[in-house]
Amino acid sequence: MFESLSDRLSGIFDKLTGRGALSENDVNEALREIRRALIEADVALPVVRSFTDKVRNRAVGAEVVKSVTPGQMVVKIVHDQLVEMLGGDAGGLGGGIDLNAPAPVAIMMVGLQGSGKTTTTGKIARRLTQRDKRKVLMASLDTRRPAAQEQLKVLGEQNDVDTLPIVEGQGPVEIAKRAMTAARLGGYDVVMLDTAGRIHIDEPLMVEMSEVKAAANPHEILLVADALTGQDAVNLAKSFDERVGITGIALTRMDGDGRGGAALSMQAVTGKPVKLIGTGEKSDALEDFYPKRIADRILG
Ligand code: GDP
Repeated sequence: MFESLSDRLSGIFDKLTGRGALSENDVNEALREIRRALIEADVALPVVRSFTDKVRNRAVGAEVVKSVTPGQMVVKIVHDQLVEMLGGDAGGLGGGIDLNAPAPVAIMMVGLQGSGKTTTTGKIARRLTQRDKRKVLMASLDTRRPAAQEQLKVLGEQNDVDTLPIVEGQGPVEIAKRAMTAARLGGYDVVMLDTAGRIHIDEPLMVEMSEVKAAANPHEILLVADALTGQDAVNLAKSFDERVGITGIALTRMDGDGRGGAALSMQAVTGKPVKLIGTGEKSDALEDFYPKRIADRILG
């Protein structure tokens, strides 16, 4: 098990006797522990650096209030800075999905193969249908993986969500256009477009995503990423954001052992919010993102 960061920092500061303002030396020692905790939580290195710089600026010279120890004080500064970078308290960046557009509102799901795109598409569709009483149409644009369209159809049947009928031989752009037309004619509120992934980011994938985007004009483009992505999270988020332009992130496998550092990394490099987290394989394992909870988890 990890020793919690709070315990480590208390250990450092308990050695200090005097109170008053935090000195640069005290803070630097604490920052080494903070850096270690962030790296253990899989936060990408450039993000660790910018984070510790911000904490240094806030902490050096800060007056230690009488009611807390210097260790508790630094933990609070670190926690507050994390929450701020993760999007602030409820009502901040990490809101839900934005459906504020003329129907049918298209939500495009993008990400690497195996990240949980299809599963998350089903989860969101289920939530919008059951909780929010929207009429949702799902369409799989994955013509590369033979079973992908069938997988979405099964999810639709399990969750009482309509899926676009499969037509053999159509490409992703044609399917996207057909989905939008079907949604218009059928009076759907939302169209969920589950796009194809690849094992790695490559040029054909980005071209395909741009073409689908142009065809469907989605109001939300959600990057689906595995919470265990680690140091690659920055490249992944940056590439999809620069090439396709994402509006938010859905982080899957938060039920695993990962500490959720990818949330901080991806949000820091794109400025786009983590909107939802996946917490299991089942269709109801979807939760809103709460920065405070992730901050606690990252700090251990
Ligand atoms: P895609 O290739 O991106 O469409 O990925 P899939 O949706 O097919 O998901 C790949 C695997 O990850 C499947 O076995 C899913 O059940 C699993 N999965 C997806 N989201 C989660 C999650 O939040 N937690 C867990 N434990 N497994 C998940």
